[in-house]
Amino acid sequence: MCRSHGCDQTTREGKPFCPDHVEEHPYVREILSTLQRREEEEESVRCRGSRAVDPGGLTARELVLHLSLHGARTVERLSRELQLDPKVLEGYVSALVTQGLVSLGRTNRGSTVVRLTDESQVLDLSSLDECA
Ligand SMILES: [Zn+2]
Repeated sequence: MCRSHGCDQTTREGKPFCPDHVEEHPYVREILSTLQRREEEEESVRCRGSRAVDPGGLTARELVLHLSLHGARTVERLSRELQLDPKVLEGYVSALVTQGLVSLGRTNRGSTVVRLTDESQVLDLSSLDECA
């Protein structure tokens, strides 16, 4: 039986909630609230710029992880790969520059390149290939 208050639907495979109330599961709630915080943060970065960035937040950490996995990227490419609005991305990048985590460069064609300041943070994925 579904644990949601007042719901009498039976659940399958011993699950605590029926499909209508799956969002009441603590694990699901946690994910939903993380995603919602992320959305709210990106929205305020869009309006207020880098001041609204939480450097320890999901998006900032994802950006750093992305750079450590894939190396330096132009802002255009980062915006595409991380599916962030260019204006929002700009806020995150400038917050991370202030933190000293990333540095900016420029390509011959005038695009801004973002790279990790400490290149030793770049993960060496070539060692992983040996396991394949
Ligand atoms: Zn239910």
